[in-house]
Amino acid sequence: MPDSTNGDEAIRLRNIVKIYRKPKSDVEVHALRGVNATFRKGEYTALMGVSGSGKSTLMNIIGCLDRPTAGSYLLDGRDVSQLDDDTLSDVRGQHIGFIFQSFNLIGAQTVLENLEVPLYYQGVPADERRERAIRLAARVGVDDRLQHLPAELSGGQQQRVAIARALMNDPVLLLADEPTGNLDSQTGKLILKILDELNEGGMTIIVVTHDVNIAKHCTRVLEMSDGLIASDTA
Ligand code: ADP
Ligand code: MG
Repeated sequence: MPDSTNGDEAIRLRNIVKIYRKPKSDVEVHALRGVNATFRKGEYTALMGVSGSGKSTLMNIIGCLDRPTAGSYLLDGRDVSQLDDDTLSDVRGQHIGFIFQSFNLIGAQTVLENLEVPLYYQGVPADERRERAIRLAARVGVDDRLQHLPAELSGGQQQRVAIARALMNDPVLLLADEPTGNLDSQTGKLILKILDELNEGGMTIIVVTHDVNIAKHCTRVLEMSDGLIASDTA
């Protein structure tokens, strides 16, 4: 059934291959060599593996930041593996939330602006943007900081803002790349608690991590090795 999907599947990857080619060179890097995986809605997955094993490449494809060289990717039942850049970017903006190790907030914008501005570009009306921003800021505990700049916040607060921002588009999927990598362990625990709560609320989450203690929060651990999934444990 290559093109069908079942209602509780969030993601279906079939034979995903990614080959990086250097322009004007014959050098090829086979970063993904035929990845097969299915992620159910509400699943909380840790993606592990040594450096160079293909984690970021796979996350970029799952996050619609990049396309596979070959293979099919069904996101919520829709084949997104060969969309053009603009359509891929729309899918990303509408369906996926990202959290990065380095928070990636816009330094010249207030917390409120960081939350609202991405939705402006999606044509969401101003009052709705404001309402969502305030509600999500409250959910992660930064609603008393709406008029502050990122540099005026602690790292943990910045990551809370980044989580709120990732949720602004009501994503079907939340992707986190080492979300606690720049935080002390106590602050990291608070961030993980927020992710745990989101997952308990039904959010599908994939988190790239080197930390087995983070993986313990997850319901599934995928270990990558040399461009393939080497183990898959619940
Ligand atoms: P990980 O995130 O697990 O460290 P990556 O997905 O970043 O692994 O990398 C997988 C392989 O693909 C590595 O050999 C890496 O050097 C290569 N690679 C990653 N990105 C590129 C790129 N843009 N161009 C060429 N090679 C790349
Ligand atoms: Mg990486």
